[in-house]
Amino acid sequence: MFDALRRWRAQRVLRTAALPDDLWNRAVDALSFLDVYDDDERARLRDLVVLFLSAKGIAGTHGHEVTPLQRTIIAVQACVLVLNLDLALYDDFESVVVFPGEFVPGGEWEDEAGVVHRHDDPLAGEAMPGGPVLLSWPDVEASADWEAAGMNLVIHEFAHKIDMRDGRANGCPPLPPDLPAAQWQRTLAAAYEHFCARVERDEDTDIDPYAAEDPGEFFAVLSEVFFADPLLLRSEYPDVYGQFARFYRQDPANRLEARSDGVAGPACDGP
Ligand SMILES: [Zn+2]
Repeated sequence: MFDALRRWRAQRVLRTAALPDDLWNRAVDALSFLDVYDDDERARLRDLVVLFLSAKGIAGTHGHEVTPLQRTIIAVQACVLVLNLDLALYDDFESVVVFPGEFVPGGEWEDEAGVVHRHDDPLAGEAMPGGPVLLSWPDVEASADWEAAGMNLVIHEFAHKIDMRDGRANGCPPLPPDLPAAQWQRTLAAAYEHFCARVERDEDTDIDPYAAEDPGEFFAVLSEVFFADPLLLRSEYPDVYGQFARFYRQDPANRLEARSDGVAGPACDGP
């Protein structure tokens, strides 16, 4: 009944709201990692973006004015994560707040020992459990060029939001029944330990060393790599790539290879 109501509401929104072609094309052109999607997937992504924009407020703060293109670029990247999942994963918040640069959120949080901490360092983004997503626009803009930036802020923060759906951002999002939690945890924990050792040794990797911060950051950073540079993740951590392909129900590395040489690459564990 609830699902039927959701579907009816979604159909109503899609009948009455639309995204102008020009805006959609400019947003997609700015995000080269979307090249792997075919026409059908792009059409579904566009519908998700319309639904996302109808449900969320994306507003500037501290003098930043969000343009329609900026709003669309943020929404497209947020929706890429849930293209084959469910937009309801984002039901626990209504707003995305966009800053003109890095910001000090000023919020307090309590760790497991009950100690209260304050954020004093400027952040490029923050995802709050049950609350909004905060983004620095220059960092969102820089993320469009993965080769130069090596990061994707929007994917990072929305991966945290998905991870937080079952509690803290701990690197274990709500898993579907066909993805055993023990297998997920074993794979992610082994890769995390391996990555931390590499960072400690100062070993060269194109994966952001911030992933070694904690398992929640590992999941968020590797989600960035999964979408924006899937061949990198598959070559460095094939088991994690396989788990992510099953979780996100996408196989971007295989698609990328199929596009570039006209033949499919090796299959992963994917859906
Ligand atoms: Zn993070």
